[in-house]
Amino acid sequence: MLKIEAIHVAHGSVLALRGLSLTVADGTMVGLVGRNGAGKTTLLRSVMGHLKPSQGGITFDGQDLVALPSHARAAMGIGYMPEDRGLVPELTVEENILVPVWTNPALKESERLALVYRVLPELLEMRERRALLLSGGQQKLVALARALAVGTRLLLLDEPFEGVAPALSKRLGDVIAGLKGSAVSVLIAQSDLNHSRKLVDAEFVIERGANVTLAAA
Ligand code: ATP
Repeated sequence: MLKIEAIHVAHGSVLALRGLSLTVADGTMVGLVGRNGAGKTTLLRSVMGHLKPSQGGITFDGQDLVALPSHARAAMGIGYMPEDRGLVPELTVEENILVPVWTNPALKESERLALVYRVLPELLEMRERRALLLSGGQQKLVALARALAVGTRLLLLDEPFEGVAPALSKRLGDVIAGLKGSAVSVLIAQSDLNHSRKLVDAEFVIERGANVTLAAA
């Protein structure tokens, strides 16, 4: 289980999270909903270790994440799909998918690729293509695939549907829906729940870096 307890996180002098708390129970899908600038990306980046809370705690299965170096997240089975996709343009689709796998010696490349291509078979035909040649929507699929490759326990998805054409958005929604009931927990950050209302088991609303409500769907 991911447990975030009253964290404060600042970007320089700007306090972006003010005492935010959230939990993602094992095997559940949780929505994190808030307007642009509310602090969703800051929260996900804090879980990934890119930003350090000045107060509060983040634990995963009881282990203190704040104390761990950033690269240890992949080894714990946490996969991250950033809002800006964050692909390496010169690398191929398959190399991009494998980058976090290479940081985790416990994972077998062939097994992880087999899983990713089973879930997203459309990526097979573009596996040798460089990321820079893909459309924005295709890059979103690759970013999801890369998160899936290491996210054996928890997936953090930042605005997965943003900037994606309707057909691909439906495809992304179906892929994410297909994860329901599996061992993987999912935290989806979105400015609205239009695409995922039916998917989530619980929803946390964030406004100016703080919790607004805490409701089970
Ligand atoms: P969006 O979907 O627009 O990214 P968000 O909910 O993810 O919105 P954050 O990106 O976490 O929000 O931003 C939270 C607050 O922190 C905002 O006020 C934003 O201006 C500020 N902020 C974010 N990144 C930085 C940064 N690198 N330096 C300074 N302030 C930042």
